[in-house]
Amino acid sequence: MRYGFLIDHNRCIGCHACTVACKEEHDVPVGVYRTWVKYIEKGRYPDVRRHFGVLRCNHCDNAPCIEICPTVALFRRADGIVDFDGERCIGCKSCMQACPYDALYIDPRSNTAAKCNFCAHRVEVGLEPACVIVCPEQAIVAGDLDDASSDISRIVARGKIDVRKPEKGTRPKLFYAGIEPDLLRPARMRSQDAHLWGDKAAGEDIYCTGERSAENLATEVYDVPHAPPWGRKIVAYLWAKSIAAGVLFVGGLLLGLGYDAPRLLFVLSPAAALAFTAATLLLLISDLKRPDRFYYLFTRGNPRSWLVIGGYILGGYGFTACLWLFFGVFGKSPPSWVIWPAVFLALAAAGYTAFLFVQAKGRDLWQSPFFFWHLLIQAGVAGAAVLLLANAIMFADAASLPAILTVGLILDLIVTLAEVFVAHGNEDAARARRILTQGALAGEFWGWSVSGGLLLPLVLIALWPDALFFSTASAALALAGIWAFDDIWIKAGQAIPLS
Ligand code: SF4
Repeated sequence: MRYGFLIDHNRCIGCHACTVACKEEHDVPVGVYRTWVKYIEKGRYPDVRRHFGVLRCNHCDNAPCIEICPTVALFRRADGIVDFDGERCIGCKSCMQACPYDALYIDPRSNTAAKCNFCAHRVEVGLEPACVIVCPEQAIVAGDLDDASSDISRIVARGKIDVRKPEKGTRPKLFYAGIEPDLLRPARMRSQDAHLWGDKAAGEDIYCTGERSAENLATEVYDVPHAPPWGRKIVAYLWAKSIAAGVLFVGGLLLGLGYDAPRLLFVLSPAAALAFTAATLLLLISDLKRPDRFYYLFTRGNPRSWLVIGGYILGGYGFTACLWLFFGVFGKSPPSWVIWPAVFLALAAAGYTAFLFVQAKGRDLWQSPFFFWHLLIQAGVAGAAVLLLANAIMFADAASLPAILTVGLILDLIVTLAEVFVAHGNEDAARARRILTQGALAGEFWGWSVSGGLLLPLVLIALWPDALFFSTASAALALAGIWAFDDIWIKAGQAIPLS
């Protein structure tokens, strides 16, 4: 059994009855939606036509929201409905990044994720979903796609149907008949500063002030709010994690190379690793809508979610940092059976986020094949920068570390330019890259990230290699540059509209 929907836009009159019936059936709060009707207009006056698109969860057979959900709050039922359990949700919003269709929202009352669940409670007792019952045009058909005699199967078998973003491989079970194709390609619609009967949410405007306004496309005239789920706390989490991982990664390399700085490498490195790992975890927890349920990551964890795997990696890394510090406080160098596992876990802690971002399937920019290597290099730069700063401030010595920082900055510059200039991903990923290089984020990208965070520190170190002041200034700039890149990477990834 595989329940699915078909929405016939040859019949839909855009009356919003389905939206209202859904809100009534599920007590959906004001400002969030399980199903909504989007309006676009095409053509030029007087030859203009308005088109409707009824949008909701696609009950994907291969649902990325289920894979990324760290606590199995989202799950696929035996009848094919993708349902959710608000009691398990920790409000991490990762499902909102994984869903390519913008189907999920955070319920402002429970602070947990929610979406269309096909009115599973009605289906179980033989009733049809509320939106199907209320539609005055019988434009919504719900039924079993595995039953060849069902209405939906017969209509789907006739062909001439569309699904949203089939290239995502999610195998949606929401089919459209007679829909205007532009409604299926949200990044190809021209946005406006405000909507019919509605304001736009803060943070929604990056894309509409960019290239969309320059193209002669369908105009989006009515939609629901789509504020970006992740913000500054996730930027801070990425930044703190780069430092946490980098200090032992670089510290381990220096010890392996025979670098003699016991106070710096025996004590300060592991202490900084522990402090920034703790900060990373606290930032992650503070970004949860239900921080009180943080421990569900371990008690109800989904082993396929990189949020859960990352939690274990950070835990293991923290443990090796404790062991390292234990030897350090007794004035001893950590043994190799501590150093190399710590270095390996440092790399894992730095890089696992790339796999989490790949699970965020809705965000095309974040599918970058360079991001994993970029995170490792960022960790190296951040570790060298923090150790250099600490060494210079506490021991007035910065020998060796400027060379490591220089190599890290050169690699960082190469991979940063590769991220934006080497073609990868689909059309939407290319659009997001253009936002970085030519669009609304170009000033921050070229100014703060590339010039201020990479080129300027490289120039300072190259011109004054032995000057403590300039090497510490370079380290501070490099850390600021990592923050700047993480900030615009998070913004650009979420700038392309999903629906
Ligand atoms: Fe629904 Fe989105 Fe999950 Fe697909 S990925 S099942 S559309 S919430």
